[in-house]
Amino acid sequence: METLFSNVRILDGSGAAPVQGDVLVEGNRIKSVGSGVGKISAANAVRVDGTGATLMPGMVEAHTHFSWNDQPSLAAIQMMPPEEHILWCVRVAKRYLDAGFTSCLGAATAKARLDVVLRNAINASEFPRPRYLAASQEITTLGGLGDGTLPHLPFDALSFGAVVSGPEEMRKTARLFMKYGVDTLKINLSGEYITGMPAEATPFSDEEIAMLVRETKINGKRVAAHARSSESVKQCVRHGIEIIFHASFADEEALDLLEANKDRHFVAPGLAWLINTSHHASDWGITPEIAKAMGYHRELEVAIESLKKMHKRGIRILPGGDYGFAWVPHGTNAKDLEYFVKYLGFSPMEAVVSATKHGGAIMQKPNELGLDKEGYLADLLLVSGDPLSNIALLQDKDRLLAIMKDGVFHKAPAQTAESLRRAS
Ligand SMILES: [Zn+2]
Repeated sequence: METLFSNVRILDGSGAAPVQGDVLVEGNRIKSVGSGVGKISAANAVRVDGTGATLMPGMVEAHTHFSWNDQPSLAAIQMMPPEEHILWCVRVAKRYLDAGFTSCLGAATAKARLDVVLRNAINASEFPRPRYLAASQEITTLGGLGDGTLPHLPFDALSFGAVVSGPEEMRKTARLFMKYGVDTLKINLSGEYITGMPAEATPFSDEEIAMLVRETKINGKRVAAHARSSESVKQCVRHGIEIIFHASFADEEALDLLEANKDRHFVAPGLAWLINTSHHASDWGITPEIAKAMGYHRELEVAIESLKKMHKRGIRILPGGDYGFAWVPHGTNAKDLEYFVKYLGFSPMEAVVSATKHGGAIMQKPNELGLDKEGYLADLLLVSGDPLSNIALLQDKDRLLAIMKDGVFHKAPAQTAESLRRAS
């Protein structure tokens, strides 16, 4: 099966200026990319007349929580029984594909096997959903972010996270999650204001982190860290934790460390969480005054400054993060690209590159995912208009004329839907 996108503006995700041309997809790969219209011959292909629309790679969400179910607290998320919870995950993952995210990196699941079961079903083509890397639950400390037990109710099942104390418990927990089949082990290296432990707290010992990293690496898996405090960012670099979430309070020393190791690390800050918690959570009792008192306004301010510096130093910053809370709705994730432009000094082109090329790299497919390039996996978006003149276009689902994952239309343009019906 071949599909020819003809007369499209090819925004290839590499950072190169767009060219007008045709793109041919065969099976699940991009077969050829030609500048100039009508130069690729493909007599048997399903033709999509792009009429000047933009063809870009599918976007990648670098910090996804499918199991977050629109509740206003981690404890409330956790209350959903597992049977309903897996159905929730299956349903909500579709919203990401509908929004143009063809890949998502799991950033912690609410119950041990939700992410793994969903990933396996996606890989078995049971449901059209984004490519997915499955995360563990959050590994945390007693009293840390994700410890939901109460003094009189010391039941692990109440906790969003898995609570460990000491290297041996860490070893056992890591092995357990790997037994279940996760791709990524998630650890909470800093606190989080809303949970009581301040964002600038750094509760884990080096011995515990070293054990996690050792156990994970010998099994060929990766660690991702919730790391808001400066010290927790330094722990990530020291221990070789590639995926860093937030990094709000990174000081000059942390920035130097990150810059010196920038080919190894990815930073997914999750700005929407900070912005919406600070300013748009009143309906759930967190007025801007309360958010300010918690520390969120200051964190947002400091984070923007740190992230701007990271961007200037060439550290890879990726969109996504913490959508799925009551006040950060799933499916609005392309907002992050606008935030990067508005607050962090990205050009629209840099925002596109962060969502596509860097996305392919964080999905561990740097040579086959995230670009409109020959041989790459055919994850493509046909967008009405020019995201480089208005990055917010990508938030408008009506402008996503076509969404293709793995060479198959999740959303086919109207004209093509008709010819696909005829062909089948
Ligand atoms: Zn998160």
